[in-house]
Amino acid sequence: MIPFRIGIGFDVHRLVSDRKFILGGVEIPHETGLLGHSDADVLIHALIDSLLGASSLGDIGTHFPDTSAKYKNISSISLLESVYSLLQENSIFIVNIDSVVICQRPKIMPYAESMKKNISIALGNLDTGRIGIKATTTEKAGFIGREEAVAVQTVALISKNV
Ligand SMILES: [Zn+2]
Repeated sequence: MIPFRIGIGFDVHRLVSDRKFILGGVEIPHETGLLGHSDADVLIHALIDSLLGASSLGDIGTHFPDTSAKYKNISSISLLESVYSLLQENSIFIVNIDSVVICQRPKIMPYAESMKKNISIALGNLDTGRIGIKATTTEKAGFIGREEAVAVQTVALISKNV
């Protein structure tokens, strides 16, 4: 049995005024920001769900409930660090992760290298060559095109030492 497992993550957060736009642990200057209980880092949330899914370790909601005051405005990068500890406890190695940020504005790619660096550090200095970040728009269609929300889809491939 080949010890590889794949996981998928998906998340959407609304864009509102008076919130910071934090993506991949990077604060991007923009006139709107992402709404959520935590810092609403939609990229990190999708990434966490892909890793937990691949590892059969539940999902982000079970580990970090948004009803808990403990997670109010928390940096999602710190949640990713907790997930990394959990993976280590379970002898899980990350082969690679890949994400698509679906966002009309602002432009994401100028910040992709900084995001990869943040994710790498949170995941025990995972080689940035194993971290993919891509961006697309919906060509102004739908709620993402109207700049009402940002979505992210992530896949993670993991290997379990047995
Ligand atoms: Zn989320």
